[in-house]
Amino acid sequence: MDYMKVKGSIVVVSGPSGSGKTSLAREVCSELGDKAYFSISTTTRPKREGEKDGVDYFFVSKDEFLEDVEKGYFIEWAEVHGNFYGTSKKEINKALDEGKIVFLDIDVQGHEAVRKAYPDIVTSVFVTTKNKEVLIQRLKKRGTESEESLKVRMINALHEMKKIPEYDYLLINDDFNEAKEFLRAVAIASLIKRSKYNIEKFIEFWKGNK
Ligand code: 5GP
Repeated sequence: MDYMKVKGSIVVVSGPSGSGKTSLAREVCSELGDKAYFSISTTTRPKREGEKDGVDYFFVSKDEFLEDVEKGYFIEWAEVHGNFYGTSKKEINKALDEGKIVFLDIDVQGHEAVRKAYPDIVTSVFVTTKNKEVLIQRLKKRGTESEESLKVRMINALHEMKKIPEYDYLLINDDFNEAKEFLRAVAIASLIKRSKYNIEKFIEFWKGNK
């Protein structure tokens, strides 16, 4: 199968906090079982109630984070809402070699960087709510944000929405199950993206010349 540039694929899921992108990506990923891998980011953000180290994120200090940056541990890293977040390289490359669909729940800056690093194998989905009010309600209901943090997240939401044209798909998460179906369909289709193939090699293989 050396006519495939990389066996697996990357699905980037971005969108405002409260859009439901993390729940969508995690559920689709777990339903896909062995076929998929959800990348756990490293962050300097304080742990929220109910979050677990190594499950939701790898929670580290700012110094530890910057050390990892120095070591070249991340494919990309960015400052989001005043905290650092990074995507680690090693596990992702392993999952790609194994032919898996790698889900990255990252912000718009992360999307730009990952697309540059892996232009042929990235499919991206921007997830949002049908309007601003629904987003505010969801964030309030989640109850994890202070008034201040809520304001920051709403301002950032609009900045992020302006990057929608850079994404392959726009998913309005109104009905969760329907949104899940769409994300699952996109994720599976990402494995046969044309740019993943080296077409010349494929034609040689197809002719039987290997
Ligand atoms: P939260 O603090 O709500 O978990 O995440 C805040 C934002 O950071 C979300 O938009 C999330 O997608 C983004 N994020 C999480 N991990 C990473 C990462 O590794 N890299 C980048 N660039 N953004 C991330």
